[in-house]
Amino acid sequence: MNLLPFGLLPPHTPRHFVPANANFNDWPQLGALFDQLEARFAAATTVDALEKCLLDWGELSAAIDEDSSRRYIAMTCHTDSAEAKKSYLDFVEEIEPRLKPRQFKLAQIFLQHPQRASLPKQRYEVYDRETAVHVELFREQNIPLETEETKLGQTYQELCGAMTVQFRGEERTLPQMARHLEEPDRSLRQEAWELVAKRRLQDAPKIEDIFDGLSGKRAQIAANAGFANYRDYAFRSRCRFDYTPDHCLEFHAAIESEIIPVVRELQQVRREQLKLDTLRPWDLDVDPFNRAPLRPFTDVGDMVNRTQKIFDHLDGGLAGAFRQMQDLRLLDLDNRKGKAPGGYQSTLNESRLPFIFMNAVGVQRDVETMLHEAGHAFHALATRGENFYSYRHAPIEFCEVASMSMELLGNEHLEEFYSGPDANRARRTHLEGIVKFFPWMATIDAFQHWIYTHPGHTRAERTAAWLALMDRFGGLVDWSGHEAARANLWHRQLHIFLHPFYYVEYGIAQLGALQVWANSRRDQAGSLSSYQRALALGGSRPLPELFRTAGCTFEFTAKAIRPLMQLVRGELAKLN
Ligand SMILES: [Zn+2]
Repeated sequence: MNLLPFGLLPPHTPRHFVPANANFNDWPQLGALFDQLEARFAAATTVDALEKCLLDWGELSAAIDEDSSRRYIAMTCHTDSAEAKKSYLDFVEEIEPRLKPRQFKLAQIFLQHPQRASLPKQRYEVYDRETAVHVELFREQNIPLETEETKLGQTYQELCGAMTVQFRGEERTLPQMARHLEEPDRSLRQEAWELVAKRRLQDAPKIEDIFDGLSGKRAQIAANAGFANYRDYAFRSRCRFDYTPDHCLEFHAAIESEIIPVVRELQQVRREQLKLDTLRPWDLDVDPFNRAPLRPFTDVGDMVNRTQKIFDHLDGGLAGAFRQMQDLRLLDLDNRKGKAPGGYQSTLNESRLPFIFMNAVGVQRDVETMLHEAGHAFHALATRGENFYSYRHAPIEFCEVASMSMELLGNEHLEEFYSGPDANRARRTHLEGIVKFFPWMATIDAFQHWIYTHPGHTRAERTAAWLALMDRFGGLVDWSGHEAARANLWHRQLHIFLHPFYYVEYGIAQLGALQVWANSRRDQAGSLSSYQRALALGGSRPLPELFRTAGCTFEFTAKAIRPLMQLVRGELAKLN
């Protein structure tokens, strides 16, 4: 049974090394291919031979990767299919644990290879330094600690996923409650917000326990790898070669001086528009003029057609790429029973084609998600010509430039979805969202810097550190009567639990996206061609060079942020 939305896809390049009929469920077959590669590396006495080994290893990795992506896509498109679930779990439980040590062994063999130093420097420097870090940080005794870390993360997710409240006689999940914060009726908003806050606080002690467990394991992992603290370990393991913890601290200070004043100004305006004495936590998501929610499209076909028209305005290449995705059925966008929640873009690494998954229901957020995921898909398509598997994906800091730029550039043509005033209302909501995100990002990032450089801290000290950051970045919201909810607000930020230190990337990328947008204001065609040139580099060059090629500086200082905030403020003033 074919559970995939797309049919047979045209192969990008015929396989040279992996047999056409390879069975990825059969570990001995895969293991034999790794044996062959090890022997080939050992026999490679020239640079050419070594490069050929690297390409074939990449071919195998891409084929395995695509196989796993297909299983994941089938499972998320058919959560009710036992067959799809089993196929995915077979990969996670049977194939992946055997795969990891073999991939690691090949990385070690590469690093010790006599021809490694003779590889063309410019071509291999990025790959070489990342491979070296993975091998450098590997510690046998960290494997069980990482397993325990994953399990604690799962406990956190189960705990949060199981939280429900009784609202107006019905049991509701917390994500379901979020839409009530957009209701014009203030007392209803307050009731909904307080129910959720109270429910979260019930589990606060358990969440603190989980986090103590996680931070202890992480300190141990860092110590085993020879690091003074987990922050320094995390920067290395995330391959942050081009910025340091101090750059992040400077970024936080720049957000405080350049962006917080704009946030306060926006909150002041919101308070006046809502005719309130003080803004409370339940007043932040409602339309300030109490208008009904925007309805951009009727069904998914309609959404795709209108999105296509936006790309037609922007650029012939992007328009063609989006049309090709429709022709190959690489989009599964409607919300229906039996689909996993959320949205994602996944790359089929052997076909070198992107796939977009969404649950569109007809709200403005869907339009933003569609443009965002299309940006990721354009990135995947732009790297199709790159034969070296490792370079077909970029670091996350730049991947999100690809997607966030597309939100901003696409928003210039929102008239494809709305009449003029509604298009401006949607633009305004989007831009305000960008401004408000920066202080929250700084809070989450600065909090983690504090946590992992203060080992052995007490819970009271941790709470005090969090509250100091809420004072610094929290804006004008009046939390009186809800002090406990404010003190525990970080409990709901999944990244702190599951992906430590993975958050500043979004802030770095948003600065890049704002620059791409600023450039397009001066020269749309020029900005889009720089954007596409940078996307086509994939992960073959260091971050600052990817940014530079896209026409952006890789800098998170007040000086870099100031003109971008001026642009956003000017734009917001026009959209009023
Ligand atoms: Zn994204």
